[in-house]
Amino acid sequence: KTITADEIRQSVEKENVRFLRLMFTDINGIIKNVEVPVSQLEKVLANKITFDGSSIDGFVRIEEADMLLYPDFNTWLLFPWGGEHGKVARLICSVHTPDGKPFPGDPRNNLKRITEQMKKAGFSAFNIGPEPEFFLFKLDDDGKPTMKLNDKGSYFDFAPLDLGENCRRDIVLELEKMGFEVEASHHEVAPGQHEIDFRYADALDAADNIQTFKLVVKSIARKHGLYATFMPKPLQGINGSGMHINMSLFKDGQNVFYDETTDTQLSEPAMHFLAGILEHARGLTAINNPTVNSYKRLVPGFEAPVYIAWSQTNRSPLIRIPQSRGLSTRLELRSVDPTANPYLAIAAILEAGLDGMNNGLTPEEGIDRNIYRMQDSERKANHIQDLPSTLHNALKALEADPIVKAALGEHLYQSFKDSKELEWAAYRQSVSEWERDQYLELY
Ligand code: ADP
Ligand code: GLU
Ligand code: MG
Ligand code: MG
Repeated sequence: KTITADEIRQSVEKENVRFLRLMFTDINGIIKNVEVPVSQLEKVLANKITFDGSSIDGFVRIEEADMLLYPDFNTWLLFPWGGEHGKVARLICSVHTPDGKPFPGDPRNNLKRITEQMKKAGFSAFNIGPEPEFFLFKLDDDGKPTMKLNDKGSYFDFAPLDLGENCRRDIVLELEKMGFEVEASHHEVAPGQHEIDFRYADALDAADNIQTFKLVVKSIARKHGLYATFMPKPLQGINGSGMHINMSLFKDGQNVFYDETTDTQLSEPAMHFLAGILEHARGLTAINNPTVNSYKRLVPGFEAPVYIAWSQTNRSPLIRIPQSRGLSTRLELRSVDPTANPYLAIAAILEAGLDGMNNGLTPEEGIDRNIYRMQDSERKANHIQDLPSTLHNALKALEADPIVKAALGEHLYQSFKDSKELEWAAYRQSVSEWERDQYLELY
């Protein structure tokens, strides 16, 4: 689909749009937006809206503050809510420098850069199907989130155990109004935990969709007196929230990962791509699991990966290859969590996979047993490495991985590193309840 400036003008007229929301994403994956009244439409369409880049995390210093927003017309969308002040539409924008060049510190521009490389390598799409999970907590009387869950349901449960059902259904309806093709929605394993899966899309659209999805989930939850959080591990002792990434490379409408002539019906390029992700699994972790809390999820026992391995049958490893073949042939990367900046994560994963293809890497054999039940020695014999266990270790692994760094480019790598090192330094200084419980009386 390609939407023109004229079509946007017509849509504004016909739908009586009163406000335009111009959105982009900062280094931490947080959606930023500026809202302008519709009187500014022509300025918007001519890429003339400016903002102060020095106020956005990871962008620029005060000296070079004025940045431009270039709207991507294809992201034109009317929000189904809005109401008494007239309709609100949004455009996702790319950030450009005052001289009109794409700003290299914009994660979305960077993803476009990496997908261009993929196209040069002869592929037409990097299809991404995300499986975002989230918790619903009750709001208190002041509208602040509490730690009270609103149900005791578990995997695939029904109401009345699953009180999130009405809220989830409302979310699905809103998403559909906004053009999402929702494939499934269900209660997840933990109480208060849910998952909504929508149809895969090419890299850039998929990343845009993930950002829009989070916004919709949070807004609708609020209408139900609930707070939706994508924090990876809000409660200890129960499952955390992941965002599994299903992926495949397409060439002219054909799935490159499928080959009906092999034993497994997986193609040679699929195995190279898989090997590339395994090779860079440690370097990718800081991008895919970018918060201190992300690492509280990546522990044994809660369906989240800890070890670097792949499997066709079992869900304990980092990468699973679901049974489906043909157009649905795909790899599922299970480490990613919803705090990942989707633009950065998808760029880095793609670059890692392409590196596996460029170098003809082949993976170690798949593991069809539960890795958590293996002894350390057995894992060693099978060459199974760990994922980094903390944000600090993940940052070190990223620093040591030139391919993943190249996937971010110099500017983004530096601002990511700076931002995350500050986060780690702040965390190191905090003393937790757990420590006081353990040590105060013992020593
Ligand atoms: P799971 O097997 O983990 O339960 P789901 O069925 O919940 O997986 O999710 C499957 C996801 O994979 C959906 O988002 C779907 O659109 C996506 N998907 C299907 N085919 C492909 C493909 N060829 N490439 C990428 N994603 C795909
Ligand atoms: N919630 C689990 C995780 O942290 C995943 C459960 C599932 O397989 O869907 O990744
Ligand atoms: Mg799930
Ligand atoms: Mg899954």
